[in-house]
Amino acid sequence: MKMKAAVVRQATDPYKFEEVELAEPKNDEVLVRITASGLCHTDEFGRTLGMSPIVLGHEGAGIIEKLGENVKDFAVGDHVAFSYAFCGHCKSCVQGRPQYCEKFNEINFGGVGADGQSKLSQNGQPVAMFFGQSSFAQYATISEESIVKIDEDVDLAMIAPFGCGVQTGAGAVLNTLRPHVDETLAVFGCGAVGFSAIMAAKVAGCRQIIAVGGNEYSLALAKELGATDVINRKQLPAGQTMAQAVQAISNGGVNYAIDTSGNGNMIQNAIQSTCLNGKIVLLAPSGEVENFDFGKDVLMAYRTVIGCCEGDSNPKIFIPRLVQLYKEGRFPIDKIITKYPFEQLEQAREDSNAGKVIKAVVTME
Ligand SMILES: [Zn+2]
Ligand SMILES: [Zn+2]
Repeated sequence: MKMKAAVVRQATDPYKFEEVELAEPKNDEVLVRITASGLCHTDEFGRTLGMSPIVLGHEGAGIIEKLGENVKDFAVGDHVAFSYAFCGHCKSCVQGRPQYCEKFNEINFGGVGADGQSKLSQNGQPVAMFFGQSSFAQYATISEESIVKIDEDVDLAMIAPFGCGVQTGAGAVLNTLRPHVDETLAVFGCGAVGFSAIMAAKVAGCRQIIAVGGNEYSLALAKELGATDVINRKQLPAGQTMAQAVQAISNGGVNYAIDTSGNGNMIQNAIQSTCLNGKIVLLAPSGEVENFDFGKDVLMAYRTVIGCCEGDSNPKIFIPRLVQLYKEGRFPIDKIITKYPFEQLEQAREDSNAGKVIKAVVTME
């Protein structure tokens, strides 16, 4: 079928709407009319992969319009949210840990779906897919393995980002760290992933939740979402590091720290902000960490530094939990989302990159 999609040819191009051909669903695939898609910084990374043309977007949600012949768990009319793609056959997938699929990069960043082919084309030539979904489009043909059913009374624009950015932050707390109720946690970086971690830490009952960020607006929002303390890294007393600021207000360091920035200096401070035997989760691809002393800061402080993908989330299990928390008012994702009409995708991208909005979501209705 033919549809409108946002096509990118050069990394620096703005999104351009073009007609693209989408393959019909077969086997375990469904055809979904997309109603919303979040924007994530990984879409910017997708532009640099050298695949051209490509349709980006990997936080889609919508309504099923057609089923492949072997679809078991979904019906036409079901509301669904998308998540990442995985092979379903490797050791990690078989163990129920698709976030560590051995083919994760190949499938999500390789321009093709799990079957090794792209569902998208123009004039008979393949168009690269992204995350097995390419959600900056009117429709997607996607495996039922990568979608999660969502109750019809929930606004899909609020749920679309759960499939990547939100589960990454929330999962780092609820799946990876699993803090006890009286423990303490610091979050470095106040974007959508960091805020998701803060909301999750509140759900987990952390006694102290410290947000470390760079602007007053974000830090005020962090407090609204559950942070008990905030540190503006640009307003530290001369000579004090972010880690020392956290140590000072947490009585010797937090139990856990999460870095969402990928910045080497922030990562170093996140590690140094924890107490003896603290745990640190790194969620963003890292820059170089200069002058870091692993002997002093990791080994002799008995700390654990953890890398995790997609918040250790199995989306079919974790996303429904987050949706339930949202419905109960305990995970107020609506406070960080700004909606744009699909036609304003480029504006949404510019505003996201400029830090004017926390989580942009385009809507196709
Ligand atoms: Zn796999
Ligand atoms: Zn993402």
